[in-house]
Amino acid sequence: MNRERIGMLPDNDDIVAVATPPGRGGISIVRLSGPGIAAFAQSFLGRLPIPRSAILTDFKELDGTVIDSGIALYFSAPESYTGEHVLELQGHGSPVVMQMLLRRCQASGIRLARPGEFSERAFLNGRMDLAQAEAVADLIESSTESAARSAMRSLKGAFSEQIESLVSELIDLRIYVESAMDFPDEEIDFLAEEAVVSRLNALAERFSALNRSAKQGRLLKEGLSVVLTGLPNAGKSRLLNRLSNENRAIVSATPGTTRDVLEQYIEIDGLPVKLFDTAGLRDSVDEIEAEGVRRARYAQAQADLIVLVIDVTDSTAGDVRAMLPDSVPMIKAYNKIDLTGESPEETAEGIYLSALTGQGIDCLLGAIKRAAGYRQSDDSQFMARERHMHAIRRAEGFLLSGIKQLADYRAGELLAEELAECQRALGEITGELTSDDLLGLIFGSFCIGK
Ligand code: GDP
Repeated sequence: MNRERIGMLPDNDDIVAVATPPGRGGISIVRLSGPGIAAFAQSFLGRLPIPRSAILTDFKELDGTVIDSGIALYFSAPESYTGEHVLELQGHGSPVVMQMLLRRCQASGIRLARPGEFSERAFLNGRMDLAQAEAVADLIESSTESAARSAMRSLKGAFSEQIESLVSELIDLRIYVESAMDFPDEEIDFLAEEAVVSRLNALAERFSALNRSAKQGRLLKEGLSVVLTGLPNAGKSRLLNRLSNENRAIVSATPGTTRDVLEQYIEIDGLPVKLFDTAGLRDSVDEIEAEGVRRARYAQAQADLIVLVIDVTDSTAGDVRAMLPDSVPMIKAYNKIDLTGESPEETAEGIYLSALTGQGIDCLLGAIKRAAGYRQSDDSQFMARERHMHAIRRAEGFLLSGIKQLADYRAGELLAEELAECQRALGEITGELTSDDLLGLIFGSFCIGK
């Protein structure tokens, strides 16, 4: 059980929550979990249902009044989502009925679940590791099909398996290095063996590959944030509309109308992209517009990519590069080629396009994907979070420093320490070594009833 490994106290009480989204619908589900749920089912339904078979039954108040009639589904521990006894009550999809059912359960001493508490219990009872539990939340929140598929692969354990296979290779190496140190006279020879060095290097290579996949996974989860910027009237709003095929941004012939930062979600071949249309790049005397420019600068600094829109017909456009943050990669989009007759293409300078006619838009989409380092999703992809990226990078750092210790000083002891740290960092991903605080943060961001 994970709870023993991480030393977290088991919660022994029974919990209840509505598992379906709030609102009216055909069916809503109340979900209960805990050691006392078998006894509750017995008294509430008048019998303990056979596990995993649906029964049609009345849901009654303590005094016998019928609240609703629906389907009850019972899962006996440990073969359930949480690893505890679980009961699901599928009633009519009315918020009022759901509230009455919740109150009825509370009257029997069952408390309301915290967000993510069902998944937290699943983790603590060893039904899934932390990366899988996170994948549950990522699947629910996924905004594109590729993101959902990747989350599902993580949920099925694709990511955890890779981590575990790295950990098992690390353990092997640690045993080898540490036993070499038990024979100090022979230590030098043991560690000088080509086999150790090449195994360490092969491991480092696997870390780089994992880093690349995790980066893809993170892109699918977080999406790419792209800021459209440029001088007033360059065509930013029209380009945003063109890219999103919606008329959300206000297009206007008067310079300086985009005063706030507009945000739009699009999907490029499965890559979720947040597009921001920002105020024109100029120092404004108008107070409201000046605020817009400040917000635009802030959005630019936070972006993964800036698309600088330039009006090809405006010879006074000049160089606005100096007004943009250096740290963020940039693509130049030369707009309004329909007025000059230039052909839509990508050159060394940038992309020639027309937001009005749509020419060259494909080139821009391709350039955005390339700038993000996005490969169309393949079957090896899994969902990764910033937290995972961070742990993988730390683990890789320990490994590389261990390799260096060995090469520079033949220092077996230092290598052993770095390998131990490397293993610890990986353990944070699957939750073997994760603090209670971090667990609280992770599960606290789940929805209620999950
Ligand atoms: P912004 O201030 O950069 O957001 O610019 P807008 O998107 O509001 O566009 C300014 C003006 O340029 C509007 O009159 C647009 O219709 C026009 N415009 C934008 N893109 C194109 C384009 O590709 N071709 C032509 N001919 N006009 C465009």
